[in-house]
Amino acid sequence: MRSFPAGLSRAVAALVLAGCAASAPRVTPAAPLVTEDSAVDAPRFAAVAAVRGAVNLRVVYPPDGATIVARDSTFIFGSVGTGDARLAINGIDVPVLPNGAWLGWLPLPPRDRPTWSLVATHGADTARLVRRMVFPAARPALPDDGPLRVDTASLRPGTREARLAGDLVRVSIRAPRNASVEWIAADGSRRSLHNTLSLGVGGGDPTQWTTDVEAHALRLAGRVEVVRGSDRVTLSTPRVALMDSAGPRYGVVGEVAPPPTPFAPDSDRVISARPVASGGTYKWFLLPGTVVELTGRSGDMVRARLDRDLEVWLVGSDVRELPIGASAPVRVAGNARVVARGEWSELVIPMAERPAYAVEERGDEVVLDLFGTVGNTDILNLASADSIVRHVSWSQSGRERARYTVALRAPLFGYAVRWERGALVLRLRRAPVVQVARPLAGLIIAVDAGHPPAGSTGPTGLYEGVATLAISERLQRLLEARGATVYMTRTTAEAVPLGDRPEMARRAGAHAFVSIHLNALPDGVNPYAAHGTGTYYFNDRAVPLARAVQRGMVRRMGLRDLGINYDNLAVLRPTWMPSILCEGAFVMMPDQEALLRTPAFQEAYALGVAEGLERYFRELRR
Ligand SMILES: [Zn+2]
Repeated sequence: MRSFPAGLSRAVAALVLAGCAASAPRVTPAAPLVTEDSAVDAPRFAAVAAVRGAVNLRVVYPPDGATIVARDSTFIFGSVGTGDARLAINGIDVPVLPNGAWLGWLPLPPRDRPTWSLVATHGADTARLVRRMVFPAARPALPDDGPLRVDTASLRPGTREARLAGDLVRVSIRAPRNASVEWIAADGSRRSLHNTLSLGVGGGDPTQWTTDVEAHALRLAGRVEVVRGSDRVTLSTPRVALMDSAGPRYGVVGEVAPPPTPFAPDSDRVISARPVASGGTYKWFLLPGTVVELTGRSGDMVRARLDRDLEVWLVGSDVRELPIGASAPVRVAGNARVVARGEWSELVIPMAERPAYAVEERGDEVVLDLFGTVGNTDILNLASADSIVRHVSWSQSGRERARYTVALRAPLFGYAVRWERGALVLRLRRAPVVQVARPLAGLIIAVDAGHPPAGSTGPTGLYEGVATLAISERLQRLLEARGATVYMTRTTAEAVPLGDRPEMARRAGAHAFVSIHLNALPDGVNPYAAHGTGTYYFNDRAVPLARAVQRGMVRRMGLRDLGINYDNLAVLRPTWMPSILCEGAFVMMPDQEALLRTPAFQEAYALGVAEGLERYFRELRR
C-alpha cells in the first residue's frame, strides 16, 4: 500500500485516492520484456499449508460500519480459522483456502440492507457474523418533469474563496438539464449558466451548469436562479473576498516549528506546488522558509505568485500568512561559484532570501530558474577542470527571473537544491564508479521497509510492515553479499515518518532508494483481476531502475506483470538518487499472503530486487 504525500488536505487526499483507484492496478506492461533472462522456468513455491482446527470466523477488511464507495461489487476478506470449513456471504459461496483464508468479490447488497451476513459451517459447527456498511449518499436525481429540484449542495463558489479582482471564478450548480439557469449580481445584472446541451457540445453531465464571473462582481452576494416553466428556485452565492483591496499579502511556506522530528525542517523537505487548485501534478518545489506573495484562496488551496509571470497553487496548511504590511522579499543573486566536493559539484549562488526554483534537465545541460530573483552575478568562479561542470552561464530570463544554465562534462546521476548559509546551492552528482563484475561493490543502497505508520493487512492477519521488514532484511543480506553498503530506513517495528525516509537516504549518501511494499486495492476494484507485481517511480531518471527491478521481481516471484507506473509519491520525489517503490505482491490476496509468510517467497522478492539493482548499475556503466 502506498501512502499519500504528507500535507495533503483531506479533500485532496480523497482525490488522490480516487486517482489511485483508477490508475494503480494497471494491467498493461510498460514495455515488452525481451531479455535473455526472461526465459527461466517459472518459479515454483510450496502449496499453501493446511490449517485444521475449530471454526474462528474473522473479517479483516472492511471494518464494521465502513463507508464503501463502489459501483456494483466490492471485496471482503478474512479467515475462518480452518481450511475445511465452508463459507457463504449473503448466500454466495466464497472459496476457502487450505489455511482458512478467504477473499470474496461480491455484488453490493441493496441500499436498504447494507450488510454482509457471513455463515461458516464445519460439520455440525456453524458460526455467523454480520458486518454493516455505509453507502455514501447518492447525488440527488434531477428529473426533467414534476416539481423542480436542484442539487443545493453542489452550488459553487463555496464559502472560502478569496481572489484578485480580475480573476475569473467559476459559478456552478447541478440543476435539471431542461431548466434555464442564471446568475444575478447584486446590481441586478444577469449572466446565463450553460450546460453541455445549451453549448451544443454533447456528452458530459448535462445537469452541470456553469459560467465564469470576475471576482469583483462576486464581491457582493448574488444569487443563482433556476427556472423551469412556472417553477423557480433561488440560491444565494456567497461573497468572494478580494485580496488586492488591502495591498499585497505574503506568506512563508513549509515553516515547521517546532520541528516534529530530528529530520525537519531542512532543505530536503521541499513543498510542492501545482498549476491548478484541483489536482494537477506537482511541478514546482519550494524550500521551507520561502516567502511568496499570496494572491488567492479556493477551499483548502492557496494561490501564490512566484514572479510576475507565474502563479501556482499550494496546500493551505503548508503556508503561514505573514502580517499585513510585510514587505516583498528582495532577491538579488550575487556572484556565483562552482565548488567540487568529491562525488558532486556545487553551484553556489549567494542571495539574501531563498527563491522558488525549478530545475530542468536538457540532455547535457541543467537549467535552474530562480523566480522572483534579479541576477547580479558578475563572476563565475569556475575551476577549469571540474569533473562534472563544464561551463555555467546566466541570464535574466524575465524581469523577475534569473536563469542559470549548466553545461555538463559528464552524465548527471542526480541533483539537489538546498539552502545553505545564505546561498542557494545546486548540487550536481556524478554517476558512481561501477565495476562490471561486481556492479554493486562500493555503492550505498537505501532499503526502505514500507510502514508503519499505516499499511495493509492480509486475510489471516499478516501486517504489511512485518512482511516488508522481513523482505528488506533479506535484501540487505543479498546486497551486502554483492559488496554494497546498505542503509536501512527502518530496522524495528517502530514507525518511521514517511517524509524522513528519503532524507535519511540522502544523508547516508545512497546511490539508489528502494522502498519495499505490498499492494492492496481500494473498495470496488476486483482483486482477482488486478493483482500482480508492479513498480512505481516519479522522476524520469528512475525509469531504468524501475524497469530493471520490475523485471527481476516478475522473474523471481512469477506473479502477473503489472508493469512500471508513474505515481506522485513523497518517497519517490527526491532527485538525488533514483528512487523506486516496489509493490511485489498483494497481501490482501489469500494465496499471496500465504506465500509472503514463507522464507522462500520472501527470498524471491528480495532476490528479484537485488538482481534488478545489479542490472541497473551494470548498464549504467555502459
Ligand atoms: Zn505499503
